[in-house]
Amino acid sequence: MIPLEKALKAVDRNIPRLGSERIALGDSIGRVLAEDIAADGDQPPFDRSMMDGFAVAAVDIADAPVTLKIVGESAAGHGWHRKVKRGEAVRIMTGAPVPSGADSVQRVELARSFFKGDEEFVEILESAKKGMSIVKKGSEIRQGKRLFLTAERITPQNVAALAAFGYARVRVAKRPRVAIFGTGTEIVEIGKRPGRDQIRNSNSTMLSSLASAFGASAEIFPNAKDDLASLKKQIKMASRGLDILITTGGVSVGKYDLTKAALTDLGADIFFEKVALKPGKPVIAARLGKTLVFSLPGNPVSAAATFYLFVRAAIVGMQGVKQTAMRTGTATLSEPVKAAIDRRTLTAARLENDASGRLIAIPLRGKGSSDLVSFARAEVFIDLEMDTQHAAGDLVRICYL
Ligand code: AMP
Ligand code: MG
Repeated sequence: MIPLEKALKAVDRNIPRLGSERIALGDSIGRVLAEDIAADGDQPPFDRSMMDGFAVAAVDIADAPVTLKIVGESAAGHGWHRKVKRGEAVRIMTGAPVPSGADSVQRVELARSFFKGDEEFVEILESAKKGMSIVKKGSEIRQGKRLFLTAERITPQNVAALAAFGYARVRVAKRPRVAIFGTGTEIVEIGKRPGRDQIRNSNSTMLSSLASAFGASAEIFPNAKDDLASLKKQIKMASRGLDILITTGGVSVGKYDLTKAALTDLGADIFFEKVALKPGKPVIAARLGKTLVFSLPGNPVSAAATFYLFVRAAIVGMQGVKQTAMRTGTATLSEPVKAAIDRRTLTAARLENDASGRLIAIPLRGKGSSDLVSFARAEVFIDLEMDTQHAAGDLVRICYL
């Protein structure tokens, strides 16, 4: 049994960097940048009005109410490109360029326009400071400045910034290609009704969803039976030419737990096979040819925990992400928890805010590592050092799923 930190380092050391490709921005959510993103122009590209109103010189309206002559109109996409002189105003819309000579915008609610003959005037009712309701050219970002760096993930929050600077296509790390299969004579496909002593293969779908969520392209292969020949054949087939193979089940010490034997027979280089971790003690990380192999426990919660710790690190690391550890934080315990005496312990929990706004971690009291029903509500793992216990109200470390 090796400590978790050691196991994580062993994985980190063995993560290759994948190449990159250019893809359409619209397909890039969840992918990792393989180029720095720079502003191709000032943002905003011109002094932009934040309001519908009148562009004026602030000094002209210092003694408001005052009446100015309306000399033109600046609309979004169609500006007014002469100079505003003293005593003049230009009607302006939100998003439109502020003409030169004007240095503030008074909003339409504080102005009253009227005709005198065929000339139009506006009475500005209140003064405005210089710069009022104007976003200055380049104040959000200057041309050439870098917005995002290689290895950052593209998210729904930052994709608009890439779009605004013309990155219709963007260079991203290639997707790690991941194969997944379950093992176990008892496992049947999810579309089938399990017979006597059988259960559905929930792990393969969970793991392929997780792998995809972190930017991999995942393919589910047929299950292997609990015999050496079937396992070896399946491992060989599913790992061919791929970056990562994930298997579940058959890693414990039972008579039919043959995954390690199969990997050894095939000549895999095994990094570790037992980690001081609960759940997830039996877990194999290895390399077979160029493929990283993760053989996770069969119990669904153990499979999820070991995926988040090891496989996720490999998937994001291959894409160039430097911080491969899970995102952590702290929360207050709603009830006592206890770690295993000899193992780092992850307890699935959900989060809530209490009346004073504190973040509360509520352990999901399930039936252990096979309980995928209670795990279905999990938002974090509470991360406990071995042989520790914590009371309700204690602050604990949480790892976000
Ligand atoms: P094993 O590690 O093979 O002894 O499996 C441990 C437990 O996980 C057993 O109860 C298995 O039936 C269950 N299990 C194994 N593989 C899967 C799977 N693909 N989906 C859901 N449960 C599984
Ligand atoms: Mg099994």
